[in-house]
Amino acid sequence: MPEERTKRGRPHGQDELVFLALGGLGEIGMNAYLYGYGPPDARKWLMVDLGITFPEGEDDPGIDVIFPDLRFIEEERSALAGIVITHAHEDHIGAVVDLWSRLGVPVYATPFTAGMLKAKLAEYGGKHAIPIREVKLNGRFQAGPFDVEFIEMSHSIPESSALAIRTPAGLVLHTGDWKLDRTPLIGGAPDEKRLAALGDEGVLAMICDSTNAMREGQSPSERDVAKSLTAIVKEAPHRVAVTTFASNVARVKAVADAARAAGRELVVAGRALHRVIDVAIDTGYLPQGFRYVDQQQFSEYKRSNVVCLCTGSQGEPRAAMARIAENEHPDISLDKGDLAIFSSRTIPGNEKAVGWIQNSLVRMGVEVLTDNEALVHVTGHPRRDELRQLYAWTRPRIAVPMHGEARHLKAHAELAREAGVAEVQVAYNGEIVRLSPGPVRIVDDAPVGRLFRDGNLIVPSGDGPVRERRKLAFVGIVVVALALSRRGELMAEPQIAIDGVPAEDAGGEPMGEIVLGTVEGTLKSIPRDRRRDIEMVAEAVRRAVRSGVADAWGKKPIVKVLVSVIEGKG
Ligand SMILES: [Zn+2]
Ligand SMILES: [Zn+2]
Repeated sequence: MPEERTKRGRPHGQDELVFLALGGLGEIGMNAYLYGYGPPDARKWLMVDLGITFPEGEDDPGIDVIFPDLRFIEEERSALAGIVITHAHEDHIGAVVDLWSRLGVPVYATPFTAGMLKAKLAEYGGKHAIPIREVKLNGRFQAGPFDVEFIEMSHSIPESSALAIRTPAGLVLHTGDWKLDRTPLIGGAPDEKRLAALGDEGVLAMICDSTNAMREGQSPSERDVAKSLTAIVKEAPHRVAVTTFASNVARVKAVADAARAAGRELVVAGRALHRVIDVAIDTGYLPQGFRYVDQQQFSEYKRSNVVCLCTGSQGEPRAAMARIAENEHPDISLDKGDLAIFSSRTIPGNEKAVGWIQNSLVRMGVEVLTDNEALVHVTGHPRRDELRQLYAWTRPRIAVPMHGEARHLKAHAELAREAGVAEVQVAYNGEIVRLSPGPVRIVDDAPVGRLFRDGNLIVPSGDGPVRERRKLAFVGIVVVALALSRRGELMAEPQIAIDGVPAEDAGGEPMGEIVLGTVEGTLKSIPRDRRRDIEMVAEAVRRAVRSGVADAWGKKPIVKVLVSVIEGKG
């Protein structure tokens, strides 16, 4: 430190531009990126996105939302100029409501993204007045030393924007989530001239979406999906139910258009869809007169006269599609011969839940159509030809792949090299990448990790309560309560509670009896003069019960021994 500062205490190290992720590098989800500018001991920071991820499988019992650990930037919050949100997908915006108070800085977003954040705040937040600075689409603003320009890209939600971040050290293009859809149905197509002009201006580094970096070719357009949906709905003899990601406004419009083209009424089921439709009407992405029928009227229509758009494409158990599949929806039901379209991709980890719903629809005689059988969904991320095209326009000196697992980042890095990028740097969460002065390299590490939302609380992932819970899930628990005198004599029959352990051993002896016998035997075996050491007694009982149950069961339970010391004869 002293070397870095003059006598007046002003930093005088060389100004650097650095980039790091607190989430999003080495995983798809939980995006939280930081750009830092200034001397190493006095950087100013800009955060890009603050999203969540979901647990995969059942490794984290009781947890359904995971946040990035922000402790690195919390310690530097006075140097944080703001949070910019590229778009309103949960993996980019989902942690703002819960974590904003730890940072307390303005949140910058374009109108649709801001509208989605406000709608969510109204529904769940309310506690904090988050200062949302709405920036117009393709608008530009200054935050600390960062001059930030939004550049509209196509994706699977309106207003997904790349950010041109200008600093005295150069221009960084942070692509956000994007694809090259020249006929996007809603919003503008990526502006080739604008992107090529950035290339002419000189792009120091491009931090770019890697989700589909392993897939060759070019992804189909949203318009192709719309055409396909229109044809399918037209052909359908009976009811049609379509489920999709609620935030995909273009798909909502495509389903509405398909219904209208077939002379059918549109019914919308699911709160998330209503919320998105309201924001899309407010921000002009759906017409003011966008019309749909309330779900309560569903049964009033002839089977050939209705299309139902519903939530639940990822198998969410409380969403409309799951309840329809269980025949438990209050207003909507499907019958033999009706059609259910999954206009979505199943996110890894949700396959079982989605499969369960599809199987139960099939058992009802409902026709199920997914993107395996027809063009009813298209990705929102660039395949390799689209990546090549963006590199050709922007010609960055440095490429840092983001928004991908290790294999996606590696494939993207190879493509960037082939595309002629001079310096390519693969980095993972927590690695501080110096972009300038060059050459690009990892210069430091920041602490990173995950936080769990557990009920109303946010808890650490590693040594928090979920670790205990995971253990409980496998071995159950035995609790022994002892009432002892000061001299260590048993003053009452031990109380035992057993959960998650088999009721009896192979020979039919109740587990409670086994535990009781072990407790009494252990107490007897401790010499009288040593029983005054109550802690020692408790520990001896704990160990004995654990091995006693292990002998009977073959597994060691968690054992807790509670001791009350009773004053009296003893
Ligand atoms: Zn994303
Ligand atoms: Zn996205």
